[in-house]
Amino acid sequence: MSKIAIVGGGIAGLTAAVELAAAGNRVLIIEKGSEIGGNVESYGCKAVDICTKCNLCLVDDIINDVSSSKNIEILYRTSINDFRGKTGDYTLGIETDGELYSVDNLEYIVLATGFTKWSELETGTPEAFKDNRILWASELEESIKNRIDRENGQDVIDLGYSPESVVFIQCNGSRNMQEKARYCSRICCGYNYRMARVLKHYYPEVDINMFYMDIQEGGFIQDISFSDLAENDIGCINCKPVRIEKNDNNLILHYENQLTGKTESIATDLIVLSEGVHANEVNEKWADLFNLQIDDYGFLMPIESEEQTGIFLAGTVKGPKDIAGTISDSKNIAYRIKNARNLSKSGG
Ligand SMILES: Cc1cc2nc3c(=O)[nH]c(=O)nc-3n(C[C@H](O)[C@H](O)[C@H](O)COP(=O)(O)OP(=O)(O)OC[C@H]3O[C@@H](n4cnc5c(N)ncnc54)[C@H](O)[C@@H]3O)c2cc1C
Ligand code: SF4
Ligand code: SF4
Repeated sequence: MSKIAIVGGGIAGLTAAVELAAAGNRVLIIEKGSEIGGNVESYGCKAVDICTKCNLCLVDDIINDVSSSKNIEILYRTSINDFRGKTGDYTLGIETDGELYSVDNLEYIVLATGFTKWSELETGTPEAFKDNRILWASELEESIKNRIDRENGQDVIDLGYSPESVVFIQCNGSRNMQEKARYCSRICCGYNYRMARVLKHYYPEVDINMFYMDIQEGGFIQDISFSDLAENDIGCINCKPVRIEKNDNNLILHYENQLTGKTESIATDLIVLSEGVHANEVNEKWADLFNLQIDDYGFLMPIESEEQTGIFLAGTVKGPKDIAGTISDSKNIAYRIKNARNLSKSGG
């Protein structure tokens, strides 16, 4: 039986924990917050008359498996401040609620401390956008999560008003060097399309347009197609947003139409800003403590010799991934740990 520490109790850490515990290992999850689940805890089911396959359901099953496993222990409000030892026998110095102690005899350590939403970075919160008619995607996710039954006679989704038109702005916090993210975040096309469908379902008359800058692998092409948008009466405009003007009645988005090259404008009463996936700043600490490399954007770089060092990386700590991608990455990491153990036992 190996003793394994998993740092981070998001989907990545929890999936690895379930797989490793099921194989008979003792797993300790070290979570800095007071809950497990990570970023997805604030998202809502995006089913309309049908399931839109956002994959959030997968999370409930994993959390249930964690709760029912006798081999998994969770330390909440805990951080790591020291790492020592040698391969196969590591010690972590940890701090829980101000109390310091050590966890010894760790055969493997999995780092699964996830990502930071663009809205959480200071640079990603323009003062100009302090208006309840301009929402971050994660704010709309939360409103969708908290939606109530129609029968109550109140607004189904509590936005404070019923929007007549909505504009989704794609690629915000992604694919832009000024925002320190030249990459595609791979998830925002999908979650915005699903949230647009939820709004359409509850406000059938609402006029919805998705403003996108470019088509990129992992974006519209992979997740949804233009015909999906058209079928659901969701407009799609290829443009570069230039400026948002606010007045008492509505918002006016000025944009450069990529097809005509002309500056145009559209009036709307709700703007939803997509949020890119950014590196968690704790990655720099991990790079120092565990002798790892970080890439140009601050994500941890996959370690080629994970089996030799016993330090593994799982999930979005390495870069953008959706829930399904995160789960499959973590299952793969757990498989490799189980295999590494078998090899070392057989002297291979
Ligand atoms: C607005 C938005 C909507 C999304 N909607 C969808 C969707 O509908 N479908 C979909 O498939 N994907 C969606 N995603 C992507 C999804 O959030 C990720 O795929 C998923 O959260 C990745 O899980 P993770 O465990 O890698 O990271 P996280 O969710 O970031 O979890 C990391 C965990 O590590 C903990 N942690 C961090 N630092 C430390 C530390 N120093 N010590 C200990 N613990 C630490 C955190 O508290 C957290 O519990 C969305 C993303 C965004 C931004
Ligand atoms: S949570 Fe997502 S996957 Fe589950 S029913 Fe709702 S829309 Fe479908
Ligand atoms: S997933 Fe879509 S919205 Fe997000 S960065 Fe990629 S192309 Fe842009």
